[in-house]
Amino acid sequence: MAEKTLFQRIADGEIPADIVHEDELCIAFRDINPHAPTHILVVPRKPIPSLDDLEDADRDVVGHLFLCARDIAKSEGLSEGYRTVFNCGKHGQQTVNHLHLHLLGGRQMQWPPG
Ligand code: AMP
Repeated sequence: MAEKTLFQRIADGEIPADIVHEDELCIAFRDINPHAPTHILVVPRKPIPSLDDLEDADRDVVGHLFLCARDIAKSEGLSEGYRTVFNCGKHGQQTVNHLHLHLLGGRQMQWPPG
């Protein structure tokens, strides 16, 4: 059996995290190294490595991540807006190979990103 990803270990309670949401499809917890006052990772329980590895059957899971991000943004009081990001691969500077949607808010974002 493949070794569990870091985020699977968090989802399974083997590594502690500040969890803000859990359901049958995903888990959301605060980033350990936040880049904004609110920085939350929304992670599917299914260990999809990256955006590049998505299959057509994952359509509902990915839609669910965005709907959860919307609801969490509301519960975190991000009424002025927020940003959602999937980093993918080397140029996207992805560091954890388990798909995750960053939800960032609580400050003015800049564009373009670095
Ligand atoms: P990425 O660089 O897009 O792959 O994002 C990975 C994110 O996971 C980074 O923002 C890290 O700070 C975050 N991270 C790594 N380990 C943990 C952990 N144990 N708990 C919470 N967040 C983590």
